[in-house]
Amino acid sequence: MLRIDLGRLDREGTVALDASVPPDDPMFMGLEFEFDGPLRIEVQASQAGTGEIVVRGRMSARLERECRRCLKDVTDRLNHDVTMVFADEDDLGSEDNGDVRPFDADAAELDVTEAVREEIVLAIDPFIVCEPECKGLCPTCGANLNQESCACVRDETDPRWEALRALKEE
Ligand SMILES: [Zn+2]
Ligand SMILES: [Zn+2]
Repeated sequence: MLRIDLGRLDREGTVALDASVPPDDPMFMGLEFEFDGPLRIEVQASQAGTGEIVVRGRMSARLERECRRCLKDVTDRLNHDVTMVFADEDDLGSEDNGDVRPFDADAAELDVTEAVREEIVLAIDPFIVCEPECKGLCPTCGANLNQESCACVRDETDPRWEALRALKEE
């Protein structure tokens, strides 16, 4: 669990959180990609003058993913600078608070696990490809067009492109 000791933060002003989360940690359950090794988190929590807590630093990991076009395994690297802002939930209204996350100022610790999980989801490119020129799979027979050509006749006028073209010509 990724927690910051609020008592220590009060006394010292800043608290560093340096952690390695193993790939099978429950915090990653339900994500659409797998980690190939631990997630490294190196952040520093500090108090902002307004009673907010700013957690800033870096997270990095290696991910095992699939090319969106040809389904080949691709190793993806996450190297993400992160800034997370937490404000006392009593000071936050129920309206949209933007990127500010509520926390319980009376608790002993601030749990940043969920916030880190959200940051990972935002940081990951959902449209990863093995290489920019990847030709993908034939939609008709499933042949990997990077390795072979197939006899299927491809309809070059994809209806989606037609719709786009019509929009452009307006
Ligand atoms: Zn590919
Ligand atoms: Zn084909």
